[in-house]
Amino acid sequence: MLIKNQIYEATIVDYTAEGQGVAKIEGCAVFIPNAIVGEKCTVRIEKAQKTWAAGKIVELLEKSPHRVNRECPVAKLCGGCDFWHMDYEEESRLKADRVKAALNRIGGENLTELPILSAPTCYGYRNKAQYPVAAKKGRAYTGFYRAGTHSVVESGRCLILPEITDKVKDAVLDYVNQYRVTVYDEATQKGLLRHIFVRKGEVSGQILVCLAVNGRKLPHVPDLIDRLKQIPGFTTLVISVNTKDTNLILGDEFITLYGPGYIEDTLCGLKFRLSPRSFYQVNHHQAQRLYQAAIELAGITKDDTVLDLYCGVGTITLSMAAAAGKVIGVEVIPQAVADAKDNARRNGIENAEFFCGDAGEAALALAKEGIHIDVAIVDPPRKGLNADAIEALAQIAPRRIVYVSCDPATLARDVALFKARGYALQKAMAADLFPRCAHVESIVAMIKE
Ligand code: SAH
Repeated sequence: MLIKNQIYEATIVDYTAEGQGVAKIEGCAVFIPNAIVGEKCTVRIEKAQKTWAAGKIVELLEKSPHRVNRECPVAKLCGGCDFWHMDYEEESRLKADRVKAALNRIGGENLTELPILSAPTCYGYRNKAQYPVAAKKGRAYTGFYRAGTHSVVESGRCLILPEITDKVKDAVLDYVNQYRVTVYDEATQKGLLRHIFVRKGEVSGQILVCLAVNGRKLPHVPDLIDRLKQIPGFTTLVISVNTKDTNLILGDEFITLYGPGYIEDTLCGLKFRLSPRSFYQVNHHQAQRLYQAAIELAGITKDDTVLDLYCGVGTITLSMAAAAGKVIGVEVIPQAVADAKDNARRNGIENAEFFCGDAGEAALALAKEGIHIDVAIVDPPRKGLNADAIEALAQIAPRRIVYVSCDPATLARDVALFKARGYALQKAMAADLFPRCAHVESIVAMIKE
């Protein structure tokens, strides 16, 4: 076992799923943040367990050619991004490698290469911002959570956000400080404003502002609206009532104070209505490329019936409607299903049906009915597919399954489960929707053998 506080020499050989460097010291895996594969360094051990340890770089003995100066001044403190210390070439490589390694190690595949849809820019790509609000000496400020904590570190520009969302945040803060609107304190559970949530339509330019409030009312709302109206694109202001002691940002009740309570945006040539709660990929450009890849991998024809499980507001479902005979979307959040139906209407799409329910249960019900599905798309949250969803899909037996995933490990697990039920991996690729952050999306096509 390694000894806490002792200094060891290490070579970085791999990355964790969270983007930390991994070194092997005396047979023990050591996790080291801000490290790049190939680098040699001395490391101080901060936590030592039997099979693993955590450490920090003391001195870099050999720098990677991929190391760069951090452009973000708070990168080391902030729990948001992971990769400002390396160039984008290395980030893309490691993301593709992570998906490939998961499919090989957990999925039992034998892939030598795995392509990645790299992002054209690392700056200003996020169309959604969620600023935690805190107060010091009676003055409200926003920032980011210090990694692994809920203490808010005040910060200036966030490079992955567009400037306009910062302007919205500043306008809300000016109002809060002028009228001394109270700020929520997690310790006492007192105070009103918790988070400032901003969503911007990339194509429409429309801006939705949603304030997470520990209550149902804010003071001097007309003045807040006047300030927000100065910002080009401001469309709607909503309160999300969140009075619970919870880590969730948005509560269950929404009160619209100005505008329609939602914005619109265009994705893959279709118009979508977006409420605060609707799932919508944060990187518009890369989401379009990912969905385009999904459509191509699905190989749909005009006679096909397509099932889209975990369909959200119907982005993928509706993008596939024109190529298919019929598309069916299943989603568990009622508001998202309502949005999906509305999105079908506003795009004049008549061959789409949406059901609200658990994907596994809905797929089992469809399997029982003996429905014929030619192609299935799944895009589950990180935990991957439920066992009953896999069982039901195997019963429905579509000729092709396209799996969009935000966690390579659960994707690989599910690929192995489908393999045991007669499906073979046909193509796999990674897509970078979160430059500078460790998350990576991936997409695979499986065909029935
Ligand atoms: N395909 C959509 C949404 C993907 S996100 C898009 O790309 O925009 C995953 C979606 O799965 C979310 O909308 C979430 O609400 C939904 N979801 C989570 N658990 C679910 C379950 N058990 N059954 C059905 N949908 C679920």
